[in-house]
Amino acid sequence: MLKPILASAIVTLLAAVSASGQDAKTVIGNASQASGVATLKTVQFSATGFDFALGQAANPTLPWPRFLEKSYTRAINFETSASRVDRVRLQGENPPRGGGQQPVVGEQRVSQTIVVGPTTAWVQQLEIVMLPHGFLRAAAARNATVQTKTVGGRKYQVVSFTGDNKAKVNGYINDQNLVERVETWIDNAFFGDLLFESLYSDYKDVGGAKFPGHIVQKQGGHPIFDLTVTDVTANAPVSIEAPQAGRGGPGAAPAAATAGAPSEKLSDGVYLITGGYAAIAIDAGNHITIIESGQSEDRGNAVIAAAKALIPGKPVTLVVNTHSHVDHASGLRAAVAEGATILTHQVNKTYLEKTLSQPHTLGPDRAQQNGKKPAVESVGEKKVLNEGGHVIELHHMTNFGHHEGMLIAYLPKEKILFEADAYNPQPPNATPPNPPSPYTLSLLDHVKRLNLDVQRIVPVHYPADNRVVTMADLQKWVGAGSN
Ligand SMILES: [Zn+2]
Repeated sequence: MLKPILASAIVTLLAAVSASGQDAKTVIGNASQASGVATLKTVQFSATGFDFALGQAANPTLPWPRFLEKSYTRAINFETSASRVDRVRLQGENPPRGGGQQPVVGEQRVSQTIVVGPTTAWVQQLEIVMLPHGFLRAAAARNATVQTKTVGGRKYQVVSFTGDNKAKVNGYINDQNLVERVETWIDNAFFGDLLFESLYSDYKDVGGAKFPGHIVQKQGGHPIFDLTVTDVTANAPVSIEAPQAGRGGPGAAPAAATAGAPSEKLSDGVYLITGGYAAIAIDAGNHITIIESGQSEDRGNAVIAAAKALIPGKPVTLVVNTHSHVDHASGLRAAVAEGATILTHQVNKTYLEKTLSQPHTLGPDRAQQNGKKPAVESVGEKKVLNEGGHVIELHHMTNFGHHEGMLIAYLPKEKILFEADAYNPQPPNATPPNPPSPYTLSLLDHVKRLNLDVQRIVPVHYPADNRVVTMADLQKWVGAGSN
């Protein structure tokens, strides 16, 4: 297993590069020989361990929240570049802490099939390319180079090639000729050029090849998977069917991101924008204020465009952010590009400033192109905005397990409560969870504690049937009854 010092040292010690006596072909050949690349045409393995939800920590200083892999089975066909994962995950944080659709009630089945074809997104191909045998196959097929690097006092042959997304893919090969680490960078709407690492250790012999017994994948410096391999079968018959069109893997764009942005007038100068993560646009006199920017840069741009169409001739200068989770912050780069100030809870301020300043060279967005820098201001427990006569109360949700820097917005004139991730209304006939989510209970507590007279709730995760959500719905969902 990699010593903890290695991960941090890798970034800082890259300067310690010396010229290599071996060429890339030799290094790849030796490593392929050692791990049995030619032998291992297919592999099927089972594992136990954890997965973690990227960008969903309960505060910006924590690692990503953890879920249990009750079962994990993966089949890979290296010859056809195909992979299938079937896993069952369970709630891992007790009590629930952070996002990623917590709390998971019971067992959640997740399957993912990737069959690499001419149109397969590079980020999906990485699921195979970043595996030791996949990496060596890809390196042999591409124009790879090699350098010797010393990291944490250990010497590696680092084989590099350029991925389809123009980012380097680096494989660290140790003195046993085994791939110990593969790193690359992928585009992320919020994080920008996001470091994606896979760490391999505890190699074992399997059918004439070697396969790692411990696999850790990290994104953004924190694990997204930590798997202990319990069973490996080499060259088992593995047939992996291509997924049906429309059922994308992890790189597939959410359908809502490119949908339109229909709107509803809530009162004079106040508009609800749906068609993705819900947002509210407010005519603030000489400018427009937007509450929440959506789940992607596209959605952020769509919300801004819809707001400007509803409230013509005014610039968007203020965007309120409910919290810093990746799916609620990915539209903020559109706000940065617009030159708008972002208003968030103080827990998120430094984190948003830093993250929204990251380079987006792999997928240059509007802010990357126009060079605008984020302007972030913060709110403590409460702030009352008067936006051109429209009052917006921003309240911090205290002791809220989903996120420590969560803001809710209350519009007293409209009696509207805008909330994220505390209550996500399900179809009207859905059965309320038992026990109720502590996040939803917390929202109800806040409405009572703050004495908010709420007629209508606007959830950021707006119900698919576009119905109006009321306090009665919230009370029913937690089994509280109306009072
Ligand atoms: Zn969240």
